[in-house]
Amino acid sequence: MSASEAVVHVAFFPSASMGHLNPFLRLAALFIRYGCKVTIVIPKPTLTLAESNLISHFCSSFPNQVTQIDFNIIPVDPTTANTSDPFFLQFEVIRRSLHLLSPILSSLSTTLSACIFDFFFTSPLVPIVEKLSCPSYIFFTPGARILSFVAYFSFLAASDTAAQPRPSTFIGDVIQIPGLTSPIPRSSVPPPLLGSNSFQRMVVEDSHNLTKFNGILINSFEELEGEALTALNEGKVVKGLPPVYGIGPLRKCEFKNVDQGQRGCMSWILKWLDEQAEGSVVYVSFGSNIDTRREQIKDLALGLIECGHSFLWVVKLKRVDREEDEGLEDVLGSELMSKVREKGVVVKEFVNQMEILGHPAVGGFVSHGGWNSIIEAVLEGVPVLTWPQGGDQKISSECIRISGVGIWPEDWGWGSQDVVRGKEISNRIKEMMNNESLRVKVNEMKKAARNAADVGGSCEVIVKRLIEDWKKNI
Ligand code: UDP
Ligand code: UDP
Repeated sequence: MSASEAVVHVAFFPSASMGHLNPFLRLAALFIRYGCKVTIVIPKPTLTLAESNLISHFCSSFPNQVTQIDFNIIPVDPTTANTSDPFFLQFEVIRRSLHLLSPILSSLSTTLSACIFDFFFTSPLVPIVEKLSCPSYIFFTPGARILSFVAYFSFLAASDTAAQPRPSTFIGDVIQIPGLTSPIPRSSVPPPLLGSNSFQRMVVEDSHNLTKFNGILINSFEELEGEALTALNEGKVVKGLPPVYGIGPLRKCEFKNVDQGQRGCMSWILKWLDEQAEGSVVYVSFGSNIDTRREQIKDLALGLIECGHSFLWVVKLKRVDREEDEGLEDVLGSELMSKVREKGVVVKEFVNQMEILGHPAVGGFVSHGGWNSIIEAVLEGVPVLTWPQGGDQKISSECIRISGVGIWPEDWGWGSQDVVRGKEISNRIKEMMNNESLRVKVNEMKKAARNAADVGGSCEVIVKRLIEDWKKNI
């Protein structure tokens, strides 16, 4: 077979949670668009219903191009795990099961051209990828600023000359990452990384092992994060990193065969949005796995009622969707609930966020600053008011501020800190909704995002180049 006719076969191994699965499947769909055959290896059982629904929609949309393989994880006794957080527990269980991956990859009927793995598995993957006969890549699902921080983290830790037990002194008041103009303050560092613990050790180790892969893919693009992408690729952040491919913004998957009965609340949400004026609705959601904090919920409701705009508010009462059992009214109380419903819509179901952000009625997004949410907002030209709840969300929020596509009221702190009062929330929402220059900036970024993702854009250039490289080995 000549190289041009050869079929490129790519395996994808995502981590748990929608924040990882969504971009992984969008990335897989991108390679399918350019003629690749795809195998997705899915850790089973999946934690959330949203993930299992997404996987089945994805596989039924590409029956001829995708093979799904179950990766049966070995359950651990939760009392022996390093965490009680259900999502981190799932990461840990998958990590501990990774030795089972080699036989799966080597038993595939079509030879692999490349493997793309989630960053969360970096270190345990090293002995596995050393034995693979195809190149292997890390897909780092957050942005380039966060990757710079993570890549620099092991260098920073190694510079810590303090004798144990005085760990973590390597994180000072600010982290000045070489090649980035704006430093990362200690207050933006993901809280679990500030103490010496197994998570910190894992990130240090994974950061160090990034060099063992052939490349790092990232859901970002030049106009949004040019400085960080350049610094990473010119060896300024750390020396020896493989190429970092800004392959974003990843567009939503177009699913086939989803019958209307499976659309749940989306049917009436879209109907309701159709009745609202263009750019008039505030969309509020804190991602796929953060429960809305009980102490904050009433003030958030008051802020929305007061802001003078209609709103679509997604409330999560439990972190894992399979455990949702309470009614919203029980939490808000019937009086507040009826006031909320006079002004907007509140749901506790998993919604199709990209479809909502793409609706012309939506004029602003109150978000926790998850990277996928940011990219989705930019792709649809919706300004963001970011309210980081944990993890890397303050570093993503810095990116929002630097790029000018949204506002970040830094004095709100982490979502788990002081309750932010309704009046303050309403003022900041008004600021986002009425800020014309913000709208202009986000529309410019939307144009750049679409150019990057369109025919002839940077995303296509990178995908084609990778495919050509992989074909040489077939
Ligand atoms: N999402 C969604 N509907 C919801 C909540 C989340 O479609 O009700 C999607 C959202 O579009 C994004 C992903 O789930 O693609 C969440 O990822 P993000 O990085 O924004 O935040 P995380 O959930 O990882 O904190
Ligand atoms: N509604 C809401 N939150 C919910 C469910 C409903 O705000 O969780 C509001 C929304 O405005 C919707 C109306 O109540 O249009 C009726 O909702 P229902 O789910 O009963 O829809 P139906 O299919 O009866 O129109």
